[in-house]
Amino acid sequence: MLTCATIAEVRSHIAAARRLDKRVGLVPTMGALHWGHLSLVTSAREACDFVVVTIFVNPLQFAPHEDLEKYPRPLARDLELCGSSGADLVFHPEPAEMYLPAAATQIQVSGISAVLEGEVRPTHYTGVATVVQKLFGIVQPDAAYFGEKDYQQLLVIRRMVADLNTPVEVIGCRTVRDDEGLALSSRNVYLSPEERLRALSLSRALRAAREALDSGRRDFAAIEDRMQQILLTQGQAKIDYATIRHPDTLGQPDPDGERFVILVAARIGATRLIDNMQWP
Ligand code: AMP
Repeated sequence: MLTCATIAEVRSHIAAARRLDKRVGLVPTMGALHWGHLSLVTSAREACDFVVVTIFVNPLQFAPHEDLEKYPRPLARDLELCGSSGADLVFHPEPAEMYLPAAATQIQVSGISAVLEGEVRPTHYTGVATVVQKLFGIVQPDAAYFGEKDYQQLLVIRRMVADLNTPVEVIGCRTVRDDEGLALSSRNVYLSPEERLRALSLSRALRAAREALDSGRRDFAAIEDRMQQILLTQGQAKIDYATIRHPDTLGQPDPDGERFVILVAARIGATRLIDNMQWP
């Protein structure tokens, strides 16, 4: 497996892969890899001939009060996991390699970025869209793999790719959970054992909503109340949102609609977690 810290090195390896007519797949991550990330690498491996994983804790997507400094960065372990999962190249730049001091360009995807996460983290998706577009420019992948765990992020990236005519196929991959239902996340390492138990309230709330929809209920407000109850009583969570939305627009759901997405964001202690489930 190749490892690169500079854009120039990545470009030369990609050019070599292209000369061999290889299909290039990209898996962007912030590192602290877990089975969720590795499932994206596995999907890329199955469909592509040259798999690039990027590990970059992107300062642009963190607000000043967020956890940029303390975000885990176990690079040696991450490289081992990438190697054993079948990555061909890992790009792990420093921030100075990615952002010129005079950089003045950012990608703002309006509308879809402004709701839910956007209300709580108003600059977050501009940071995400900017770095993902830059990685698309550097790697020029045929396909890029993202987790449904970050459902709104996936919609933002799909919107951006459509609007900018970026020739990348965006592939969404299913959320990987632990045996008890907790969605894997790099931020789970912040949870104490007691908080980890409380964090199970997120997936329980989602499952309760999904079961309500399964049973034919469409009284969304009452279902959302029940989700809040679960988060408060089982999680002692501080809730940002627990809501049922239209799966494409994240607008209010239509009771006659055939598809929904249920999304939660809540703080367990000091750790902010997000999760979602689609229906059906
Ligand atoms: P991150 O390192 O948190 O920026 O995540 C990098 C990629 O991995 C994103 O596309 C995430 O949606 C995806 N991802 C994170 N957690 C999971 C998970 N539990 N299951 C599937 N994909 C995930």
